[in-house]
Amino acid sequence: MICELFFVPLQPKTHSRNIHTDMKYALVTGGSRGLGRAVCLKLAAQGLPVVINYQSNQAAAEAVKAEIEAAGGTAELLPFNVANEQEVDRAMEAWTAAHPDDYIAYLVNNAGIRRDGMMFMMPTDDWKSVISTSLDGFYYVTRRCLPAMLRKRHGGRIVNMTSLSGLKGLPGQTNYSAAKAALIGATKALALEAAARDVTVNAVAPGFIETDMTKDLPVDELRGQIPMGRFGRPEEVADLVCFLLSDAASYITGEVISINGGLYT
Ligand code: NAP
Repeated sequence: MICELFFVPLQPKTHSRNIHTDMKYALVTGGSRGLGRAVCLKLAAQGLPVVINYQSNQAAAEAVKAEIEAAGGTAELLPFNVANEQEVDRAMEAWTAAHPDDYIAYLVNNAGIRRDGMMFMMPTDDWKSVISTSLDGFYYVTRRCLPAMLRKRHGGRIVNMTSLSGLKGLPGQTNYSAAKAALIGATKALALEAAARDVTVNAVAPGFIETDMTKDLPVDELRGQIPMGRFGRPEEVADLVCFLLSDAASYITGEVISINGGLYT
């Protein structure tokens, strides 16, 4: 358990405001389900106030918020479509107006979708929507959060959820592989831009993890290809994300960390 071994608390509840009196928040896009949900729960358990983004599944997002609050944590919902520039801008402006003394110090660009199909038959919308959710989403949200992180020079952290598919390329996923590979390039470039301001930018590349996104896959067939013989659990990915967001990872930037049960490229 990476978090338990190495985790340096992001922000203990009793010291939730630092000497500059601003409060550091975490924003997790696609925080209502799957990997994003697991990350939200784990961050909140570390004492960090969490902003849960989602697109449409309000019930799932409310359930994550309720679970966090029941455990004594702090969470708020911020619905928007990461792929819609105006929606992102409006939501982030509203959040900033409501939190004049606070800022997003920890950003997890996690929202993503799959629309698999052989490329020669792929509808334009499946190509564009997958790329736009992962890549434009990263751009629209990150550029809103980045200025405060750079200005504060106080250990800002960005983690981008990419995929084995973006490292290796998977048949039936030209759109998804392209989106996730591009996100890796963006991660490395932004890491270089932000390093001098003490802001790290890393990517996590899961293999097959048990979430809604993978529930239609032939699990038994795929399990046989994974050296560990099983899909990963969202909590295992959340541990890695939490580590990269922690002070313990302060000298790691521009990296892509795989988490795939040995299913290397
Ligand atoms: P999931 O279970 O399908 O959940 C997706 C989440 O993203 C939901 O919270 C959903 O919100 C949100 N979302 C989707 N489109 C959005 C948009 N346009 N704007 C805002 N939120 C949006 O997926 P997951 O398996 O947790 O995957 C999370 C990330 O990990 C994705 O980037 C995925 O590509 C990546 N990944 C997953 C796996 C895997 O095996 N599961 C492997 C490698 C990489 P709603 O609830 O409102 O729909």
